[in-house]
Amino acid sequence: MERRKKKISRRAFVGRAGLGAAAFAGVGAIGEPAEAQAPRSSAGSPIPAKWDLEADVVVIGSGACGLPAAIRAADQGASVVVVEANYDIGGHGILNGGQVPLGGGTSAQKKHGIVDSPEVLFKDLTDWSVVEINGMPEYRYNDRAVQRALADREAQAYEFLVENGVVFDPDRAPGVSGGHAIGISAPREHYAARWTKGQGAESPAGAAGTNIYRPLENSAKKKGVRFLLNYHMDAVVREAPSSGRVLGVTASYTPKLQPGSTTPMRPFRSDGVIQMAAATVTVKARKAVIIATGGSSSNVNFRRMFDSRLTDVYPVAGEPYSAQDASGELAGMAIGASLWGTANQTLERNGAFRKRPVIGAQYIYPVWRPSSPIFPFARASGLQVADWQDVILVNQVGRRFYNELAEGWPYGTHHGFLDPYVQGDWRNMRRITYKPDGFLDAVLAPNEGSHPPDFEAGPIWAIFDADAIRREKWEPTPPHIDPKFFFSAQTLGELARAIRGNPYQRVDMPPAGLEATVARYNTIVDFGFDPDFERPNPTHTIQTPPFYAAWATPVVHDTYAGLRINMKCQVVDIKGQVIPGLYCGGESAGGCSQHGQGRCITQGYIAGTEAAGERSWT
Ligand SMILES: Cc1cc2nc3c(=O)[nH]c(=O)nc-3n(C[C@H](O)[C@H](O)[C@H](O)COP(=O)(O)OP(=O)(O)OC[C@H]3O[C@@H](n4cnc5c(N)ncnc54)[C@H](O)[C@@H]3O)c2cc1C
Repeated sequence: MERRKKKISRRAFVGRAGLGAAAFAGVGAIGEPAEAQAPRSSAGSPIPAKWDLEADVVVIGSGACGLPAAIRAADQGASVVVVEANYDIGGHGILNGGQVPLGGGTSAQKKHGIVDSPEVLFKDLTDWSVVEINGMPEYRYNDRAVQRALADREAQAYEFLVENGVVFDPDRAPGVSGGHAIGISAPREHYAARWTKGQGAESPAGAAGTNIYRPLENSAKKKGVRFLLNYHMDAVVREAPSSGRVLGVTASYTPKLQPGSTTPMRPFRSDGVIQMAAATVTVKARKAVIIATGGSSSNVNFRRMFDSRLTDVYPVAGEPYSAQDASGELAGMAIGASLWGTANQTLERNGAFRKRPVIGAQYIYPVWRPSSPIFPFARASGLQVADWQDVILVNQVGRRFYNELAEGWPYGTHHGFLDPYVQGDWRNMRRITYKPDGFLDAVLAPNEGSHPPDFEAGPIWAIFDADAIRREKWEPTPPHIDPKFFFSAQTLGELARAIRGNPYQRVDMPPAGLEATVARYNTIVDFGFDPDFERPNPTHTIQTPPFYAAWATPVVHDTYAGLRINMKCQVVDIKGQVIPGLYCGGESAGGCSQHGQGRCITQGYIAGTEAAGERSWT
């Protein structure tokens, strides 16, 4: 606490207009050289010569895990700095639909007569016998300790959200909509109040997640949490590369510049934001560092460790607002941390990779509107597909590959999925109505265009004609479409050649191939039956120019593998030992098959509590 009152070193900061020293109060920026404070140095360890900032608890990332972690640590009396790579607070959390999976007996469950308990939740989350409709195990490979910790704290995490200003829809009982891999004994999806004000600086995606993460930001700031925005944590500093405690982090300045400008994007609210513009910053953590960086789906090499098919062609949900670049995992691994729960990432389950009903733009989840500050980065909103009968889908060589009406990913298990459901009963597997859906595998299958070094499958294109435009009432012009992800031509041959204008279309689509595909599909429509892929009721021929090709490539969504943690969210190394002073939660942590923010919020709650309870090393 004494350090928090120290004066700020102006050398360490480049202050900005209008913000005086008061802007830094409580953060604990320090000016003296760090050699005096570091416990010891060792060959090769990256202990910095000086610390630019310090706090008891340093949280990396301000999303669904980081904000609760920061608030919870502050609640226990810790000073807290959150280091955030983005220009604003909220991560993927603020983009989300506001459906919060939490169980174990929340007050909302009780109010609506839903019977649940930590014991029931734990057994659900580790039930080997529940598999998805495609046969993929939902809970079998979950780490039991991680699930036990979640089961014990989820209900508390719900009350914590309410106490910190999150408003849930009072008219809606906890339900199942939006819930994936959250256990099936009880409805556990809680619904935040709907966001009605559209997209803008307060709500970049116009999503209900705003009604969770803006109140949490507000609460964190009121409790003295300070935010270092535009700084990307690059490394966790440990006493020695693979031993000793964690001392802090290093971060580099990575402002998001407005397109075509040198002006950085501005956060919605600048109070509580530490003003710096040094190229690199060192942040000392007197008690602990919490990694809440949100996973690895944006890091192509990292995600390919779990599924080598996922090359850079596939966009990521949440981009281009914030990225899941595996930096938390890599920083942890660099000091000995283990990865965990990798099966959950590899298995085709739970919407980790999804078909989306939006085409013609690269970033299609969420849908970015021109009023969003992110729109200049996203470039287009895309076209909503009301009826897949209006298009065919072809691969990079212009061939159909699957029934276009397929759902594209198995919607997860949830309450009511099995009737009856008996926890752990082997008969559960017999009660499931299996519905294999190979759409995503067909998307990723090698084809005639696949070539070295990766033999990748390439993009997927929706092909349609002017009649489809009329039926769907699409406006095929910017801002709805991105000209590099949407093409039109008077003939199918010209269209095939035009598609080469897309940066991910790395082979020439044979014009004759696309013509043959459409000709065959038109015959199928005339015939009324699809012998190739059994698309039900093929309805519309594609024959009226101009013809169109719109990007329809599925999206990488969640991360389900990450750093190994124990019940306290302490990071565990490759030898099974806790790394002192390092915590992790959310999508950067392994051991969970559960989709979404429930586990992230709960692990933030746990990590913040435990980190604040650590002894200070200095
Ligand atoms: C469009 C969309 C809709 C969704 N809908 C739902 C839903 O309705 N219900 C649900 O439960 N879940 C939903 N999810 C998923 C849910 O939002 C995420 O699972 C959750 O936000 C992940 O929390 P997190 O803290 O792990 O990561 P995030 O919330 O993404 O936060 C991570 C933060 O860390 C920052 N960061 C990353 N690396 C660094 C670094 N090196 N240094 C500093 N900062 C860094 C990022 O910029 C980001 O702000 C949705 C996700 C998306 C994208």
